[in-house]
Amino acid sequence: MADSYDVIVIGGGPAGYPAAIRAAQNGLSVACIDEWKNRDGTPAFGGTCLNAGCIPSKALLESSELFHRLHSEFAVHGIKASGVTLDLAAMQKRKAGIVKKSTDGINALFKAAGVTPIHGHGRLLPGRRVELTTPDGAKRELSAKNVILASGSAPAELRSAPFDGKHIVDSWGALDFDAVPKRLGVIGAGVIGLELGSVWRRLGSQVVILEALDDFLAMADQQLAKEALRHFRKQELDIRLGARVSGAVVSGDVVKVTYTDAKGEHTLEVDKLVVAIGRRPYTKDLLAPDTGVQLDERGFIQVDEQCRTGVDGVWAVGDCVRGPMLAHKAKEEGVMVADLIAGRFAEVNYKTIPSVIYTAPEIAWVGLTEEQVKASGRPYKVGVFPFLASGRARAMEQAQGFVKLIAAQDDDEILGVHIIGPMAGELIAEAVLALEYSASSEDLQRTIHAHPTLSEALHEAALAADKRAIDSINR
Ligand code: FAD
Ligand code: NAD
Repeated sequence: MADSYDVIVIGGGPAGYPAAIRAAQNGLSVACIDEWKNRDGTPAFGGTCLNAGCIPSKALLESSELFHRLHSEFAVHGIKASGVTLDLAAMQKRKAGIVKKSTDGINALFKAAGVTPIHGHGRLLPGRRVELTTPDGAKRELSAKNVILASGSAPAELRSAPFDGKHIVDSWGALDFDAVPKRLGVIGAGVIGLELGSVWRRLGSQVVILEALDDFLAMADQQLAKEALRHFRKQELDIRLGARVSGAVVSGDVVKVTYTDAKGEHTLEVDKLVVAIGRRPYTKDLLAPDTGVQLDERGFIQVDEQCRTGVDGVWAVGDCVRGPMLAHKAKEEGVMVADLIAGRFAEVNYKTIPSVIYTAPEIAWVGLTEEQVKASGRPYKVGVFPFLASGRARAMEQAQGFVKLIAAQDDDEILGVHIIGPMAGELIAEAVLALEYSASSEDLQRTIHAHPTLSEALHEAALAADKRAIDSINR
């Protein structure tokens, strides 16, 4: 192992590993240092996303959705099943296998690209030097022309309900339950609360989600949020808004959660409690005191639009810097920095980062919400197309939700697209491309969409913005 590199990346999650691969593709010598250890102590690249986030959660969402549909929807198709049982151990084993394949894949990608993988802890020293502590505790110094900090994030803890790893757990704990909790409490009706709440609800838990805010999905378009809340409540996800948790006490095998809402104080008894109130940037022992790299008041590493820290040759990307904590945002920043280091043009268009919530129905959006457009004062028009009017959605027996497209009244530019319905996370890609190209609603109206596909709903929503929808009544 060399001691000197063109680029050292600290962190091998969705921000760090793509940065390392792209830097190597650009002909640079690269090492990627990562300290992640799985529960059995084995090291793995891929960070939160592959090991304890995006991938295992989607594996369980898929399995639990199939289980749920087999129970409650297959009969409508004329498929009758009896004696259906859940083998949670097998479901969890499948999930673990998918995670392992994904993380092993990074080792293969590193090998093919010529990236040096290093398991251990990296700490930035002044002068673009990095102190490496290997798992056996040995320390060495490495140096680089450029250092990319990609240390990610960690779950935020609630002081009144601290994690104990058994009854009060974070999202990683909630992905690894070995039995379906009879009663599951979740604090936070954000993305994790809804996705993991859905998994365990579908597998049989009674799920109560306590959300501090009065508004549901406050960051989303509120027409979409309202529709989502209606569906989740129908699925018997018991979402309680305006609920401020004052404490959680474990007594035997029961967690007693106290909270107050507009009606007063309440106690909730559950078997497991998941705290999912957001994540914090993770920079523990990452920076020696005199590196010059600054953190902001919330603990994020300070960077400019192109992820420069202000210290020559030191960059920071992903969850440890400002912006949405999303794997695709992290990846784009990592790749941008690797290209900038190589002297290539690169940028991230922060206005076109899509958000997806992998519930059923799925939720996805890009661009501005109607509330944001209204607040901007720019005159706008809205086209909404319900999936009920989509032949494909009806054939799939998944005709819930809608596509909503917002465009400027003056020049017809598409400002935002909001989807709740089947495959929303896939459908949003077309809207992202439209925003990337500053497309107008007319551009989408003139684009041919195959029939019968779900994508026709986006086409029709664009037509509806000018009251020219064919397959639904224009309002
Ligand atoms: P991380 O993935 O956290 O990786 C950072 C890596 O750096 C880790 O391996 C860590 O061990 C290592 N590290 C930290 N400090 C050091 C150090 N000093 N030395 C060596 N190594 C270090 N996002 C999506 O876009 N879609 C999803 O569907 C999605 N689902 C999620 C589900 C869950 C349950 C969770 C928790 C998150 C989910 N996310 C999702 C968010 C996504 O996981 C993060 O945005 C993404 O992982 C951020 O990537 P990152 O590389 O910045 O950080
Ligand atoms: P989040 O920010 O999405 O939601 C946290 C929720 O908890 C918010 O609604 C907030 O109002 C609420 N909350 C905060 N403090 C509370 C309190 N004391 N009591 C009750 N409610 C409280 O955060 P998350 O769900 O923990 O997810 C963390 C990050 O991981 C997010 O940034 C998200 O982008 C990312 N993630 C993304 C995906 C995806 O892209 N599908 C999936 C999972 C996680």
